[in-house]
Amino acid sequence: MPSRNRLKNLRNQAAQQQGWRCHYCQMPMWDSSPEEFIVRYPIPPGLATRFQCTAEHVEARCDGGKDVAPNIVAACHFCNATRHKAKHPADAVTYASHVRSRLANGKWHPSQVSAILAERRADPERAQ
Ligand SMILES: [Zn+2]
Repeated sequence: MPSRNRLKNLRNQAAQQQGWRCHYCQMPMWDSSPEEFIVRYPIPPGLATRFQCTAEHVEARCDGGKDVAPNIVAACHFCNATRHKAKHPADAVTYASHVRSRLANGKWHPSQVSAILAERRADPERAQ
């Protein structure tokens, strides 16, 4: 199996276990097309890109992290890209607490977007 598909399968497995919420910011994510996502969560389409589901290597590939289930979590594009933009990316645990404290201060995703996504999260129909 080509490794791209393998990685995608691992990502899907992880996403399902996470209820399609980002490992770091806990926001909902979309898979192959943002259209449904934008209908469900009325956020500006330009901002939907950041919530695309990606495979995130807990131990980065450049540090020897492998494409194996225990090393893959599902993260939104924004959290994934932002972690690896750093010259010396933080380890996943440190990064997760960084993201959560930024979120709590309204300094991660644009606040209007966080509000919409958080609101839907409290919807009992989606909470099952
Ligand atoms: Zn995220």
